Amino acid sequence: MRPLIIGGGPAGTAAAITLAERGVPARLIDRRGVAAPIDKACGGLLTPRAVHLLGSLGLEVASLGRPIDFVDLVARGRRQRIKWPTSTDAGETTGIVVSRGRLDSALLDRASELGVEVELGREAIEPIVERGFVRGVRTSNGEQESTEPAELLLVADGANSTFGRELGTSRRQDWPSVSALRVTLPYTALDRFGVEFHLDLERGPGDGLPGFGWVFPVDDHTVNIGVQVASTARDATAVNLHLLLERLLERVAGSWGITVDPAEAAERAEGARTPVGDSIVPVAGPNFLVAGDAAGHANPLTGTGIEAALRLGIEAGEVLAAASRTAPDALQAYVPRVRAIHADHHKTGRQIVRLTGRPLGARLLAALATTPWGAPTVMRFALAEFRSSGGVAETLHSAARLLGRVAPEA
Ligand SMILES: Cc1cc2nc3c(=O)[nH]c(=O)nc-3n(C[C@H](O)[C@H](O)[C@H](O)COP(=O)(O)OP(=O)(O)OC[C@H]3O[C@@H](n4cnc5c(N)ncnc54)[C@H](O)[C@@H]3O)c2cc1C
Repeated sequence: MRPLIIGGGPAGTAAAITLAERGVPARLIDRRGVAAPIDKACGGLLTPRAVHLLGSLGLEVASLGRPIDFVDLVARGRRQRIKWPTSTDAGETTGIVVSRGRLDSALLDRASELGVEVELGREAIEPIVERGFVRGVRTSNGEQESTEPAELLLVADGANSTFGRELGTSRRQDWPSVSALRVTLPYTALDRFGVEFHLDLERGPGDGLPGFGWVFPVDDHTVNIGVQVASTARDATAVNLHLLLERLLERVAGSWGITVDPAEAAERAEGARTPVGDSIVPVAGPNFLVAGDAAGHANPLTGTGIEAALRLGIEAGEVLAAASRTAPDALQAYVPRVRAIHADHHKTGRQIVRLTGRPLGARLLAALATTPWGAPTVMRFALAEFRSSGGVAETLHSAARLLGRVAPEA
């Protein structure tokens, strides 16, 4: 049984590489054209664990992007500088910044190199389902439609997941999602390679929001600047992300040497809403799996989804490889494996994002994150970069995990 993978982002390519490494030839299709540059609206900030996962997939990470020297947590005139926290899994690896186009191309090249049949410029239109089982997928290359056989299928078509919806996936409407907007701009303050997180986004004076702004250099010429707000904010749909980005730009332009007009730059920013914290169900069917943003796997506290897409793509690849040798029943292992990886952290994350949806919660978090002991704890906790040797973040996480198991969802 040859698995078909829909989507060539981090989730789909990680699954394809994993299958190929296990001797299972897969076919991967992506609607992005061969000629069109692959450049998803994304920060391209990789956590140490994402860097570690890319290495395990055989990518030359050192040549992909630049390591991050430091992280500044900023709120209300206070600034706390820390090193990017690392976890036991990631060893001493630090976070890096990559261009998304470069990352996706490197992953697709690695998949092709291992024998995966990759076809760009082909869109999956709808599944052909018989008695609950996917039998094939109707696809188009823009000129001609055709039907692909699909005895085993992975849906990794990203945050909007129109194909996933065709198969019956849906978002739990009362669970959090995050909306983000980013723009890349020229800058001149070249003496640092760190990340600034601004934790004091406000709609108006004292009206703190559950989100943050970021600024970091992508390379020697370009800086990536963006904002993100969770759906747990009061009247979240009325939050004007463009205006928040414009204000952030006004605040940081001087120190980063950005000379572009903030209003004009914010106007051309691009973004999307990302489902987070396992908010999509179901993520497995009789002969299909869903991974990455299509499955709502991104971190609810940070909105970062590349690590989760890689990690769950690898899990999906392993489970699909087992199913291709035995029977589709083997796919039932996927959901428990996903839960074991991040269900506790995601549940705690969803609760925290609800708390910070209240202005006081947002202010308390910003105040905590800019103290000398709070900054590393908050970052470790948010990114689940834990060390087996223990620490404040690990202790808090264990307590939250126990509470989370008995606490109701909302
Ligand atoms: C503004 C913004 C900034 C972000 N910054 C960061 C960050 O700094 N770090 C981080 O870790 N995460 C970040 N994220 C989240 C991150 O981009 C996603 O979580 C990640 O890309 C998910 O990977 P994926 O493979 O699931 O989906 P995607 O990367 O979206 O890949 C899906 C692929 O499927 C293809 N596709 C879609 N529909 C079809 C179809 N019908 N047929 C064929 N192909 C199809 C698409 O062309 C695409 O290539 C950000 C998100 C936003 C919106």
